[in-house]
Amino acid sequence: MSGSAAGKKTRSPNAGSRFILLLLVLVAAVWALSRVLQTHEEPQAEATAAPTATAAAPADVQLTPSPPPTAEPTPAPPAVDTGSWQLRLIDYDHPLGEDFAPPELTEVADGQSMDSRVAPAMSQLIADAKAAGYTVYFCSGYRDYDTQYYIYWNHIDQYTAQGLSEAEAHEKTRLAVNYPGSSEHQSGLCADILESWDQEMEPWIGGSGLMLWLEQHCAQYGFVVRYPDGKTDITGVEYEPWHLRYVGQEAAAYMMEHGLCLEEFLALYQ
Ligand SMILES: [Zn+2]
Repeated sequence: MSGSAAGKKTRSPNAGSRFILLLLVLVAAVWALSRVLQTHEEPQAEATAAPTATAAAPADVQLTPSPPPTAEPTPAPPAVDTGSWQLRLIDYDHPLGEDFAPPELTEVADGQSMDSRVAPAMSQLIADAKAAGYTVYFCSGYRDYDTQYYIYWNHIDQYTAQGLSEAEAHEKTRLAVNYPGSSEHQSGLCADILESWDQEMEPWIGGSGLMLWLEQHCAQYGFVVRYPDGKTDITGVEYEPWHLRYVGQEAAAYMMEHGLCLEEFLALYQ
């Protein structure tokens, strides 16, 4: 009995000290764990603090200098003869004149003709567009001076009938119809290509269907979209995705790739 009582007596302090020891170990473990967590948390806190400091920096202080813009080297324009017949600039200030006619005409399609030197290229373009799944209507090719005169003055008459002054009618007409003698159509080097005879000739038909195909492929045949979108200030003519002008393959490839209209292209050689 006493043994067990003594045992109890001797075990009791032991149990107490063990409990205290265990407590100490636990406290130590918790302290150690908290230290470990702190050391893990601290870098995180620093990491999140750093960008805040960067963001707070004044806008004019560049902490990391941005790399200089990588200027794509523009390849030199092709060695073409800007005085050649296919690069002739034809507009209001550079008219062909009343008596100009192409040396020879060849019928291409839909009763429309072009300068015989460019007719085969247009025939091939039309054949390939059809092979790509499009219907093609050759709306207008070569037009003589008299035809252009009629189209131009017909527009003027319509606008003046609507109440516009003659000056206003001229201003509005010139955006869509070239003045007689200054139309590319009189050169026989251009073609108005549509998907059907009744497709509207409006800027919004650009960028889709056959118009997109023409934009993407015309240069292969030596043609350019002569009056591109966004170049009206330079060409004096509204965006005409259907109006293709022959300039030769080299010039066409360069102009279409670099988004240049004929005026901008020719200016590279001045
Ligand atoms: Zn045209």
